[in-house]
Amino acid sequence: MKIGVLALQGDFDAHRKRLEELGATVVLVKKPEQLDDIDGLVIPGGESSTFLNLLGEDGFEKLRQFVAAKPTFGTCAGAILLAKGIENPKQIGLGAIDMDIRRNAYGRQLESSIREGKFLDSSTEMVFIRAPRIERTGAGVEVLATEGPDPVVVRQGKTMAATFHPELSDDTQVHRAFLQSVEKDAKK
Ligand code: GLN
Repeated sequence: MKIGVLALQGDFDAHRKRLEELGATVVLVKKPEQLDDIDGLVIPGGESSTFLNLLGEDGFEKLRQFVAAKPTFGTCAGAILLAKGIENPKQIGLGAIDMDIRRNAYGRQLESSIREGKFLDSSTEMVFIRAPRIERTGAGVEVLATEGPDPVVVRQGKTMAATFHPELSDDTQVHRAFLQSVEKDAKK
């Protein structure tokens, strides 16, 4: 399985390491045409507005087409890019997951924190860094993980998003769940 990690900015290298540990072949995606050659894509954390600037209109459109067709997993800024409605401030999203998300939603004091949440049925460490909060999920969205009352990992069809950084904790469950969906999709 060839997994791309969008490598325009942000913490793409931690995803590369995690995916390689789990046996995937990883391609760092810096050019739109590299999307033609991968089975799934990870959009890492970083600054979502900077991603939009670096992608430009053509890159955004190419990414939108990829996400509509192939499994994609976004963390933090990546989750923001995948959403339908984005606040604080408003910006455009790929609309791959029917959710509204609020950037930097935990305030300055909580700029980053490590908290315990629940992924499926097990409790796990979650690293939040200037994290967004999912404020609405549509009927087609599955909630895979929660932290307190908030959904923090969601999935709609082939698209998965986490508001925290699973690549920074030892628990590999979230990336494994993504690789399983890529495997399933590749068999079709
Ligand atoms: N605050 C960033 C944004 O709004 C996301 C932070 C992150 O990816 N760690 O895009």
